Amino acid sequence: MHHMTLAEIARGLADKKFSSEELTQVLLARIAQLDPQLNSFISLTEELALNQAKAADARRANGETGALLGAPIAHKDLFCTQGIRTSCGSKMLDNFKAPYDATVVAKLAAAGTVTLGKTNMDEFAMGSANESSYYGAVKNPWNLEHVPGGSSGGSAAAVAARLLPAATATDTGGSIRQPAAFTNLTGLKPTYGRVSRWGMIAYASSLDQGGPLARTAEDCAILLQGMAGFDPNDSTSIDEPVPDYSASLNSSLQGLRIGVPKEYFSAGLDPRIAERVHDSVKALEKLGAVIKEISLPNMQHAIPAYYVIAPAEASSNLSRFDGVRFGYRCENPENLIDLYKRSRGEGFGAEVQRRIMVGAYALSAGYYDAYYLKAQKIRRLVKNDFMAAFNEVDIILGPTTPNPAWKLGAKNSDPVAEYLEDVYTITANLAGLPGLSMPAGFVDGLPVGVQLLAPYFQEGRLLNVAHQYQLNTDWHTRTPTGF
Ligand code: GLN
Repeated sequence: MHHMTLAEIARGLADKKFSSEELTQVLLARIAQLDPQLNSFISLTEELALNQAKAADARRANGETGALLGAPIAHKDLFCTQGIRTSCGSKMLDNFKAPYDATVVAKLAAAGTVTLGKTNMDEFAMGSANESSYYGAVKNPWNLEHVPGGSSGGSAAAVAARLLPAATATDTGGSIRQPAAFTNLTGLKPTYGRVSRWGMIAYASSLDQGGPLARTAEDCAILLQGMAGFDPNDSTSIDEPVPDYSASLNSSLQGLRIGVPKEYFSAGLDPRIAERVHDSVKALEKLGAVIKEISLPNMQHAIPAYYVIAPAEASSNLSRFDGVRFGYRCENPENLIDLYKRSRGEGFGAEVQRRIMVGAYALSAGYYDAYYLKAQKIRRLVKNDFMAAFNEVDIILGPTTPNPAWKLGAKNSDPVAEYLEDVYTITANLAGLPGLSMPAGFVDGLPVGVQLLAPYFQEGRLLNVAHQYQLNTDWHTRTPTGF
């Protein structure tokens, strides 16, 4: 049962082959048995799950239908869940029970999903390895000595290990696409503003976007359908109709123009990953796509710009965690300043503190022009590169990551080495564009992802290309040994 995709589960439930309650019980038992190896969950919500499953079964018995009705999922632990711990992977929020549901959580619950738990993540979504969580590192089911990617590593590891069919995640600089690549999943970061950020604990508000992590493009379409849409509670949410994503999967790729940026194949890319990317290009060419070399000349400036803008926004967003209003408070503060200092010093981990300091520095009066303003100008140049490219092509294709998943601990002493791994993903966040990573082969037994980028609101096009690719390849069906 645990091998089923969301689409297969929907068919099985509709045909009364099993109930949502039965499926939920199977998956909860599987999590109890296998998750100790992975550490992919921070909290399990067994009671809620069984109640939601029973309610979904009752709704089906009353004639209701829907692809998500009775579907078991989990939420990255930065989506607020009413009355349930919402930790953001931090000691700061270890004792925080959200007073309300995030819009994404509420919409998915209304569609009938069953919440199995809250997944592990890098602290405040800062990281590319899921090693900065207060609740410990997450392991990659493809090789338990390797990282699963981050910051949505818990959602990725759990779905890859067949503990559940799909999960929510968020992507500020790659945190949906990079863990998807590292664990052989399909992950979609939507256009900025497509999915509500209300109730999603903020890291860098102008970059953060929620989206689905699943095994197939077909399943990403189903989950995205339940997440997307205008929300008056989020001032950057965009009031555009939500298309039927599943209906877009089956268009022909005949004549589709795919751009491959020449800058993507520089020295930093593992040549074995480059080979997998070229193979995926050939497979899409066979399906009728036309390949064109393009250029994204400002790409080289994207990492420095991102690592100024994201920490700057984080330093502002995280100022609310002051030991007074939310979460952790130090013992016996001597005075107000001591309360702030020790609550934040004890409640935040090293990477979060590093980003707050970098961000506050970049925003300080003396350095604002030199760093923050400059980074914003680069952001516009990165966007302009994409706008020019999308005049010539329909999709941009390349590697999701320069290297496969590294060993746990390998980059702990050198944060910049970890930042450099985000080179292919962060440009989409700087520009606000939608991006998808799909399984495209293996290197030394570790999965490789190919990234597709599309113009604003063309999530359907990304899902269409990935689905057609998946109908003609079987990388996405491979299962890690032991799971
Ligand atoms: N690795 C990037 C960072 O640490 C992206 C993380 C994310 O997308 N949440 O900022």
